[in-house]
Amino acid sequence: MDDHTALHTAIKHSDKVFGCFVFDRDILDGLPAHDRRVSFIHGAVKELDQTWRAMANEPNAGLLVRHGHAVPEIIKLAKQLGVQAVLTHHDDEPASLTRDAKVLGELANAGIAFHTFKDHVVFERSEVLTQSGTAYGVFTPYKNAWLKKISPADMAERSTHAKPGQLAPTPVGLRQAMPELTSMGFHPVDLAALHIHPGSEAAQTLVKDFAKRMTNYEDTRNFPAVKGPSYLSVHLRFGTVSIRQLVRLAYPPAMKGNAGAQTWLSELIWRDFYHQIMHHHPHAMTHAFKPEYDAIEWEKGKTGKAWFTAWCEGQTGYPLVDAAMAQINQTGYMHNRLRMVVASFLVKDLGIDWRWGEQYFALHLNDFDLAANNGGWQWASSSGCDAQPYFRIFNPINQSEKFDPQGKFIKRYLPQLACCAIRWSARKKTLRWPPSQSLLCERRTQGKSSSLALVPMVCLGQCLHQAHPVLRRKSSRKSGTSKFCSQCFPSG
Ligand SMILES: Cc1cc2nc3c(=O)[nH]c(=O)nc-3n(C[C@H](O)[C@H](O)[C@H](O)COP(=O)(O)OP(=O)(O)OC[C@H]3O[C@@H](n4cnc5c(N)ncnc54)[C@H](O)[C@@H]3O)c2cc1C
Repeated sequence: MDDHTALHTAIKHSDKVFGCFVFDRDILDGLPAHDRRVSFIHGAVKELDQTWRAMANEPNAGLLVRHGHAVPEIIKLAKQLGVQAVLTHHDDEPASLTRDAKVLGELANAGIAFHTFKDHVVFERSEVLTQSGTAYGVFTPYKNAWLKKISPADMAERSTHAKPGQLAPTPVGLRQAMPELTSMGFHPVDLAALHIHPGSEAAQTLVKDFAKRMTNYEDTRNFPAVKGPSYLSVHLRFGTVSIRQLVRLAYPPAMKGNAGAQTWLSELIWRDFYHQIMHHHPHAMTHAFKPEYDAIEWEKGKTGKAWFTAWCEGQTGYPLVDAAMAQINQTGYMHNRLRMVVASFLVKDLGIDWRWGEQYFALHLNDFDLAANNGGWQWASSSGCDAQPYFRIFNPINQSEKFDPQGKFIKRYLPQLACCAIRWSARKKTLRWPPSQSLLCERRTQGKSSSLALVPMVCLGQCLHQAHPVLRRKSSRKSGTSKFCSQCFPSG
């Protein structure tokens, strides 16, 4: 509310400004009744309404909040209020572009202007291009160009100080109470119990807390049991914190060489990077960024579905994977390192289509963002821009040993393992837990003692090479499957 491009512009150019928010049925009708994000948004809109009233110093000047289909609701409100223009922010998701094109057309028919502004990212669309005028597909040169381009104006606050009376009272006939979650078909979720707090004030508490820890980010960010990252993603996603404020926090120390600030700023730049990828390559939202990767024959049918279910439910028998899936299922958050681990496991080890995993994340992540989620999944499946090499696979055992050495995170989310002593076998890279009843383990240990709950990744990797046409084709062209396997899995 205090750093908002559309409101900033409206206040600058209009005598009277109204604020409105539509709970869009085109989005909401497909969501489960217990969706955490809807409770988050509802809480944030309530706070926004109160802030708006306080800023207006006029009790009847609250937000106009509606539950319906966005296009007709916006058009109806614009006509009822008799406004000259509707202002909002860019949203480059394909479905949103279609929606906004309809709004533009219908408003134009009614003689009302429609203005949209960049607000969600620092640089968007074609603002950062290569010297030959094309979009970047690799992160590091994009980041260098981004850093070269940024100026104080790009990160300046878009202030929203209105003159008295400018935030206008809602006309009597249009005053309505904000729809309750239950009236929209949703059950309120106890977000506080998950340590999630909606709204700008809560976001500022997280910003303050992270500002004290930013210097350590480089050293702590990869350890899921440690409070390393900012946990701001859900606020960035829903606009309850300004990306410009976060860049203003990280940029000065980053320029002075602070490694934590530099790495965190890089993460914020990844966010811009994936948004410009979505703008320039919308096909990647449904297909592999690199078309040849659409030729992979993924594990389907009964086996694929059973393995996918085991992955979703955290029943793979790989403690780090299962604990990470428990984290997303219980809280809607998953640590970045674990997102990479579970995505790699699903795609590279189980041979399941990255889009299945992407969809699961889309439904469960509080911070689900089409561009970042798609980018993360395509990165993990090596089918995307800036892809990691196709033969790189995150070994969940090595990852546990390196990033959760005492199993603190694992034990937090798999309490059944709380009493177990963890021993790492350096030679086999096998984490020895008590036997699990997991589906995957039963399947993967065919013919072996059932007391071996975890199969070394080397076996998994090798067996999947046989079922992975792209990997097999590439590896045989290069150096032959066996050499490829030994390169990939030197510990085997
Ligand atoms: C398979 C996969 C799926 C992902 N899906 C999403 C998603 O739907 N939404 C989402 O916001 N992030 C996604 N990420 C990126 C990253 O995991 C989260 O942004 C991060 O874990 C959020 O936690 P945080 O706010 O504490 O992050 P911090 O480490 O504090 O980072 C600060 C901010 O930088 C941005 N950021 C960090 N890493 C990335 C990244 N790799 N790509 C883009 N932006 C990044 C986020 O906005 C984040 O809030 C995904 C990553 C992977 C590997």
